[in-house]
Amino acid sequence: MLKAIQILGCSSGFISQRLKKPHSGNGFSLISSKTSYNSTPKSLSFRVIRMFSTPSQSNSDAPSSSSSSVAVHLAGNVRKIKFCQWCGGPAKHEIPDGEEKIRAICTLCGKIAYQNPKMVVGCLIEHDRKILLCKRNIEPSLGLWTLPAGYLEIGESAAEGAIRETWEEAGAEVEVISPFAQLDIPLIGQQTYVIFLAKLKKPQFSPGPESSECCLFEVDDIPFDSLAFSSIFVTLNLYIEDVKSGKVKFHYGTINKRLGTGPSDIRAFTLDYHLQV
Ligand SMILES: [Zn+2]
Repeated sequence: MLKAIQILGCSSGFISQRLKKPHSGNGFSLISSKTSYNSTPKSLSFRVIRMFSTPSQSNSDAPSSSSSSVAVHLAGNVRKIKFCQWCGGPAKHEIPDGEEKIRAICTLCGKIAYQNPKMVVGCLIEHDRKILLCKRNIEPSLGLWTLPAGYLEIGESAAEGAIRETWEEAGAEVEVISPFAQLDIPLIGQQTYVIFLAKLKKPQFSPGPESSECCLFEVDDIPFDSLAFSSIFVTLNLYIEDVKSGKVKFHYGTINKRLGTGPSDIRAFTLDYHLQV
């Protein structure tokens, strides 16, 4: 039974029965850009500084994107594995023959536990010149606004995952229109965000268990001071910039969080290697 279905505006009902259990070169413009964010941005202060330079030049002044810091970070993650996921044997941490990185290797069965980035998929839903956002009902970033998004599951495509997450978090049936952004976050969490532009199949939505509220926001009313994640901050700013320029594009970029800053400081990053087409 649905307690709240919203046609337009906001919906703060809580539905659970209806929803499945939630889970926790070519063609690109040759633009390498670096976007910096200071501590006082509003939507209008989003600064994009495009430099017509090679990627290596662009990255040379990004202290948090050095390969050495990435390697250290990855090595740290690998060392967290203590036991083999297949046989339960104790793991050792060495560089396997023919490889370059330290891996967790089972001392009993010899299998290597490779750790790879996770993909987060979600939807930027346009409806009547507004954007659908969800207020998070779970940690991290409880009470802050986000796009409906979550981890891609085994066996589904990125678009299918984005549609599923939108259903779970916003109770909205959507149709994916086009890819909008791929944002890599190599230093924190090792994640790649893939965000699709989407539209509502029906003008209805209602918050799922992970959301306390879902709202359609005019572009100028997006709560930039209360967003949950850097990736969402970047996505929405890129979208607004596109809308105001009259052409919505596809964006690729790397979000390099500044070392020593916490996840809650969503503006402590640079957007590097920004490509758009
Ligand atoms: Zn083993």
